[in-house]
Amino acid sequence: MRHRIAVVGGGPAGLAFARVLHRHGHPVTVFERDPAPDARPPGGTLDLHEELGQLALDKAGLLAGFQALSRPEGQAMRILRPDGSVLRDWRPRPDDRANPEIDRGQLRDLLLGPLDVRWGRGVTQVEPGTRDGALVHLAHGRRETFDLVVGADGAWSRVRPAVSSVTPHYTGVTMVETSLDDVDTRHPDIARLIGDGSVAVYGVNRALVAQRNSGGHVKVYAQFRAPLDWHANLDPADVEALRSSLLALFDGWAAPVLGLLRQGAAFVHRPLYVLPESHTWTHVPGVTLLGDAAHLMPPLGAGANLAMLEGAELAESIATCPGDLDEAVRAFEEHMWARAGRWAKITTAGLERLVSPDPADALALFDQVQPS
Ligand SMILES: Cc1cc2nc3c(=O)[nH]c(=O)nc-3n(C[C@H](O)[C@H](O)[C@H](O)COP(=O)(O)OP(=O)(O)OC[C@H]3O[C@@H](n4cnc5c(N)ncnc54)[C@H](O)[C@@H]3O)c2cc1C
Repeated sequence: MRHRIAVVGGGPAGLAFARVLHRHGHPVTVFERDPAPDARPPGGTLDLHEELGQLALDKAGLLAGFQALSRPEGQAMRILRPDGSVLRDWRPRPDDRANPEIDRGQLRDLLLGPLDVRWGRGVTQVEPGTRDGALVHLAHGRRETFDLVVGADGAWSRVRPAVSSVTPHYTGVTMVETSLDDVDTRHPDIARLIGDGSVAVYGVNRALVAQRNSGGHVKVYAQFRAPLDWHANLDPADVEALRSSLLALFDGWAAPVLGLLRQGAAFVHRPLYVLPESHTWTHVPGVTLLGDAAHLMPPLGAGANLAMLEGAELAESIATCPGDLDEAVRAFEEHMWARAGRWAKITTAGLERLVSPDPADALALFDQVQPS
């Protein structure tokens, strides 16, 4: 029997889910709020772990495509002191495929492939337990019913309230993102500073991280502990005022490091929110969650990986055990909660050490994860 299945959200979780179902010949409806794939900038680079994101791509039959696009050399990591001196300069072996980097836009296009996504279809609410299944409410009063609705709609999920009343809370750490283009020709000093992968500089309760994306594009993240309204007195349209505030926060840091902020084009404010470390819910027939909608955690290289693997695993268990859909979903949820809970603890502790009163914490964490 073919179940009527919908996934809300065309991010890493939703697309991995839909693509694996598609591979098994099972129809799936994908609702995505964005009007088109390129409606907004796709975001920075992602490192996909062999045992998580790459495993998901393998389940989707896309591992070779990933290997052709990804950047193993992007795993390189340099750590500097605020004065610009080098503390660590780690480079992967040429055959190291543990965590290659890929641009989010490239990953999205790889996952999209033949999928028929309903772009510009924002879901406003999901109502479980109606006579005919779970009811999806869309803008302009439209509604559709499915046997299973999967909420893969990220941090501020509209599907989550159907299973849980929990909402994300602020970690106390804010990220401000900026970016630079054509670094190799326009900013050769910055290109050398970053190398093939990332550079991170840790100070007291603050850090600056820059990551190379493909095509000479660089994303820079200023991270610091601050109240949520730290920028309340700044005009959001005044880029130079924001730049000056950020430069003041990193006052005394070496000029080449501050070049990352001085040369940045525009700034995007990203306060870091999380869900509770062990977010679970009483199973609701006909609705479940994946990825950030289920377990938003600090961005320490796990969120997209988990989101994709969950999507692939749920799709595989639905496609290969088509009898009792509800049992398949229940079993999946138990498995997801246990694994996501472990990662939430790791990434929460990691954020405490990376944006810490003692910058030595960050270095110790790096040495633990990446022994030379
Ligand atoms: C700066 C930064 C760096 C990161 N780096 C990494 C990394 O290197 N590795 C890693 O694994 N993770 C990383 N993460 C975390 C990662 O980005 C997320 O965990 C991941 O994107 C979650 O995927 P998702 O599909 O669950 O949600 P999302 O990526 O948020 O996708 C949700 C999708 O749902 C759509 N949507 C939202 N609401 C609706 C609605 N109501 N109706 C229909 N569609 C809707 C959105 O438009 C979006 O397309 C990083 C995060 C940040 C902020």
